[in-house]
Amino acid sequence: MKKKQIVAVVGGACAGSEAAHQLTSKGIDVVVFEQNALPYGKIEDGLPRWHGKLQDREIKKIDEKLSQSNVQFVPNCKLGKDISLQQILDFNFSAVVLASGAWKDRPLSAEGLEEIENSSFCYQNPLIYWFNHYHEKNYEGETFPIKEGAVVIGGGLASIDVAKVCQLETVKQRLSERGIEADIIEMEHKGIPKYLSNFDIKYEELNIKPACIYYRRRDIDMPLAEMPKGCTPEKKEKVQNVRKKILANAHKKYFFEVQPLSLPKEIHNENGNVCGITFFKMRYDGDKLEKTTEEVYVETNFVVSSIGSIPQPIEEIPMKWETYDISDTVTGSITKYDGVYGVGNAVTGKGNIMVSNKHAKNMGGFIASSINQDSQEEIAKSWEKETEDIANKMQEIYQYLGSKSGISDEDYARITTFVGDLQNKSEYSSYKEWKDSILEKR
Ligand SMILES: Cc1cc2nc3c(=O)[nH]c(=O)nc-3n(C[C@H](O)[C@H](O)[C@H](O)COP(=O)(O)OP(=O)(O)OC[C@H]3O[C@@H](n4cnc5c(N)ncnc54)[C@H](O)[C@@H]3O)c2cc1C
Repeated sequence: MKKKQIVAVVGGACAGSEAAHQLTSKGIDVVVFEQNALPYGKIEDGLPRWHGKLQDREIKKIDEKLSQSNVQFVPNCKLGKDISLQQILDFNFSAVVLASGAWKDRPLSAEGLEEIENSSFCYQNPLIYWFNHYHEKNYEGETFPIKEGAVVIGGGLASIDVAKVCQLETVKQRLSERGIEADIIEMEHKGIPKYLSNFDIKYEELNIKPACIYYRRRDIDMPLAEMPKGCTPEKKEKVQNVRKKILANAHKKYFFEVQPLSLPKEIHNENGNVCGITFFKMRYDGDKLEKTTEEVYVETNFVVSSIGSIPQPIEEIPMKWETYDISDTVTGSITKYDGVYGVGNAVTGKGNIMVSNKHAKNMGGFIASSINQDSQEEIAKSWEKETEDIANKMQEIYQYLGSKSGISDEDYARITTFVGDLQNKSEYSSYKEWKDSILEKR
């Protein structure tokens, strides 16, 4: 009789659920270990909550994939804390898929940072988490009292979201002083001027010092629209114009500003509270970017660093600089371990739902085909288009996963008991009941 195959997936969001779906649709059982109660990752806690429709759509997809009968979902189970990689490996899973995303804010390098004692300086990830959850009746997490004139250090799409949060929250505070309770989602959808016209108020009357994004390159270099590799000068100019347009439109609706060619030097404080920040001016000479000795001081009481997210280090997972040590970004093979593969935001380096999904679909599908030893001819199509190194790696994976003959009944029973014990700890019964019970408490 054919032995059972079972794969461990760490992280149940876009990438993890898609990898699980690829595996289960090929008859392979899956256990999903998720650190949080619910498995929505950056969909719920990264995208600001005004993306409600997109969030609902993605959550529905994740729910569908994780509520299949051959998926065992284990909530509140963090790899590196509640379970170790070695524990998972000792259970002889056919493979381990690491879909843990990128949850660590890239550390900002600026003098004086260690002297800030409170959330007058913060990073993007906890700020957006707060913004998405603070209105819930049982919210007990960190709070961020947003101040006007916020300085946002960054330049990507996420930094625009951060600047918008600062502007929307400041307008909300001003309206509250006038006895008006603002609907922040409606304000985002309509844009600030149109929203304020509901109350016959002009933005200028609110006398707000705007939030400002400080970016180290030129505004046309902001990665707001993808610049294809090796594109023609005409195409380059087109993309740069799109970037300008995105910024101009955002300014019209939310009034935040952008200050290009600014590199953080020092954050200043008064009794541990941010009171200002000094930037070095950068110079662009038509070819390369240079730091000048010119300094600019900006008075502010609130600084947010939004310079990118990197994978959170996990005990036993080797790191290379600020990412997991992987052989390449296609297979996401974690060096040091055979049979452990990263998918999605954990290895792609791109904060994008589609990119995460596609990577998990390709790699999850490839792992499933390798485990099942689908015809080599058929599967070879997936490495034909890759470089020689990656094609070799894929063949190596195909052979390695094929050499594992499945899991013994004894090991399968051990996994079932282990998973059951972990689920019992959270009083988890079924995916749907669990989800409903968590949402009810919010
Ligand atoms: C401010 C902001 C705005 C964005 N806007 C957009 C947008 O408009 N469009 C777009 O396409 N993309 C956007 N993105 C990016 C997008 O949300 C992510 O790229 C995508 O959701 C990542 O999916 P993922 O499954 O790879 O990772 P994640 O969503 O990060 O999922 C990782 C999962 O693993 C779990 N996990 C992590 N560590 C462990 C562990 N040790 N043990 C167990 N479980 C673990 C996490 O809890 C999580 O559920 C935005 C991101 C941000 C921050």
